[in-house]
Amino acid sequence: MVIAIDGPAGAGKSTVAKFLAKKLNIVYLDTGAMYRAIGLKVYNDGCGVDDHERVKELLDSADIEIKYVDGAQTVWLDGKDVSKDIRLNHISKMASDVSAIPFVRVKLVDMQRKIASKQSTVLDGRDIGTVVFPNAEYKFFLTATVEERANRRYKELLEKGQSADFESIKKEIEQRDYNDSHRATSPLKKADDAIEIDTTGMNIEQVCAKISEIVK
Ligand code: C5P
Repeated sequence: MVIAIDGPAGAGKSTVAKFLAKKLNIVYLDTGAMYRAIGLKVYNDGCGVDDHERVKELLDSADIEIKYVDGAQTVWLDGKDVSKDIRLNHISKMASDVSAIPFVRVKLVDMQRKIASKQSTVLDGRDIGTVVFPNAEYKFFLTATVEERANRRYKELLEKGQSADFESIKKEIEQRDYNDSHRATSPLKKADDAIEIDTTGMNIEQVCAKISEIVK
């Protein structure tokens, strides 16, 4: 079984996907983490995202591994656990930039299909229901207003004891939404047969309850 959860940054996809994976005892695959790993590799190299020749070399030599430690996904790049590094703010933008390059998507989509062909999986991303698994048993498209999504991220950072500026978070999310939905290859969009849930004003328990009702 494949469950596809797509939507823009901060719509609650990963929380819902983790919840479903646990409840159904299936694997959770965070596909954004894979784009982030390539973004990190390009960032560390220092070549520009527009230097496609170099990005291709980096991609071809990138050894990305997804490992599960106590049920949680960890991401390894060239033998190193980069699960924390890929969450850094500047890597979000890098991930979005490299994800627009078609050959990057070919390699990562292939990996995603291989992982999910081995066991039942819930995947979250931007193109799971449209491109990666167009025949997924269940497809959800989660949205929320940009204010709500920025506010969730803002609170999350404060809870972690990190400093945060609401306006700049909101701007970054808007920029990423724009990039992800306007790229030529596999743009962020709702699959025609996906169930859309606007999570604005809902807490995560309510979103999970709603999805659980549908996935029996
Ligand atoms: O989901 P997350 O915010 O971690 O993803 C980081 C970036 O990776 C997104 O902004 C998007 O550009 C890209 N991405 C993608 N396709 C996916 C998952 C993520 O293009 N399936």
